[in-house]
Amino acid sequence: RLAFDDVSHSFDGRIVVDHVSIGIAAGEILCLLGPSGCGKTTCLRLAAGLESIQSGRILIDGQVVAMPGREMKPEARGVGLVFQDYALFPHLSIRDNIAFGLRRHAATTRRRRADELLDLVGLSGRGDDFPHMMSGGEQQRVALARALAPEPQVLLLDEPFSGLDIALRDRLCTDTLAVLRDVGAAALMVTHDPDEALRMGDRIAVMRQGRIMQSGSAATLYQAPATPFVARLFGELN
Ligand code: ATP
Repeated sequence: RLAFDDVSHSFDGRIVVDHVSIGIAAGEILCLLGPSGCGKTTCLRLAAGLESIQSGRILIDGQVVAMPGREMKPEARGVGLVFQDYALFPHLSIRDNIAFGLRRHAATTRRRRADELLDLVGLSGRGDDFPHMMSGGEQQRVALARALAPEPQVLLLDEPFSGLDIALRDRLCTDTLAVLRDVGAAALMVTHDPDEALRMGDRIAVMRQGRIMQSGSAATLYQAPATPFVARLFGELN
């Protein structure tokens, strides 16, 4: 459903995404795992259309959404975003935050959809609250609900659990997983945390200095790492 086909990207002549090819099927979660600065966020920004593509192609449902000189607008791509700084609108209620992407729908539809999504992320009855009344974890769940509101085919998550304490992170991992399975979107999730990748990913792609070192199921990477770098990454968990 989402595919990177030989995508490369440079900033000021320095290559940060180096011939990346990955594919994610509907209902599948791929975790892009790697150290800070290896190019993970740039991959997400390219898929979202927040960064212009320089080389290669990105496809959604078989349709090219980005190739050099021909890019579909971000809002036309059917992509939902959950980024590190979830930045809810402070002056809007939780319900209006979630319904923000549904501006073209009738008021009753927006309300119904927002309330359905609040149920889905376990925050029933909180629609009239405002962001400052919610904890970090709750705000994160609202951000997930907001991203899901327009029923995206593809969901892009950038370190969605960073800055949360471990207990909350564990619970949100489980909850988010359930929600993603329920919606059946293709999800690309960026993380630097091997433990999180093992828990969340149907498949994991390990990235280093712009390159995908190895991709496969959690079991494959854990039991048969292709490089010492991958081995060390998962070895730290033992
Ligand atoms: P992190 O986990 O720290 O967010 P990352 O793996 O997501 O790291 P990217 O944000 O993709 O890494 O950045 C990859 C490299 O590209 C970094 O060295 C970063 O400094 C650089 N970079 C990112 N955006 C820009 C930009 N707009 N202009 C110049 N350099 C950039």
